[in-house]
Amino acid sequence: MKAKRFSDFFRSFLGVALFSCLLGGMVFLSTVGACPECAGGKTAVIVVDMQGDFSTWKNGSLAVNGTDEAFFEKVEEAAEELSKEGFLVFATQDWHPADHISFYTQHPGKKPFELVDIEERKQVLWPPHCVQGTENARIFVDNNLFFATVKKGKDPRYDSYSGFQDDGGAVTEMNKILKRNMVSKVVVFGIATDYCVKATALDAQKNGFKVIFVEDLSKGVAPDTTKAAIEEMKAKGIVVLKDLDIKKINVE
Ligand SMILES: [Zn+2]
Repeated sequence: MKAKRFSDFFRSFLGVALFSCLLGGMVFLSTVGACPECAGGKTAVIVVDMQGDFSTWKNGSLAVNGTDEAFFEKVEEAAEELSKEGFLVFATQDWHPADHISFYTQHPGKKPFELVDIEERKQVLWPPHCVQGTENARIFVDNNLFFATVKKGKDPRYDSYSGFQDDGGAVTEMNKILKRNMVSKVVVFGIATDYCVKATALDAQKNGFKVIFVEDLSKGVAPDTTKAAIEEMKAKGIVVLKDLDIKKINVE
């Protein structure tokens, strides 16, 4: 009798175990089946150039409108939320030597914001900014949120709006780190929409990532170029979100 009860128990135990496995397998298959090309692909976030020199908050030398303390807090909260969601959060950091070619002070007789030709390239001349090791070159968003910080514009000869490569074609480590971490989708925001954010978003797309830009977590240098930048990103297939929406990010 005892032996029979045990074997009955064992049989029902096996049944439950088998059923659980089947159910688990079905759930697994339906998850993978929902998006075969992005199975296993992670989402990364690139927080662009949230540095003192680009902010009104820190009286930056190249302060962009609307970059007060509240804006920095908003971006930090967003980065925190995205990090909690399991996304890998990266930062870019403009990091120039003191004699960088983009500084108007390197071009005698020229004024800030003048457009000049350097070899074959158009270069906007900026006030000196984000000089390596200076207080206002720091990123004023909690650095503990970042999986990695990618520095750009280190070569005195070339400017680098993009976090992926400079105007001379030299690549940063960004693409390699993203690929190594199985990232397939990238969310981009920060300063400035019409320069470094746009360039980083477009290069992310060129490198094969699905790209999402968040408008309310970004600020532009000038209204007309900011509007044009958003139109250009849209036209090139980048998803433009008005504000942070993790649900939308997950389904894109
Ligand atoms: Zn710069």
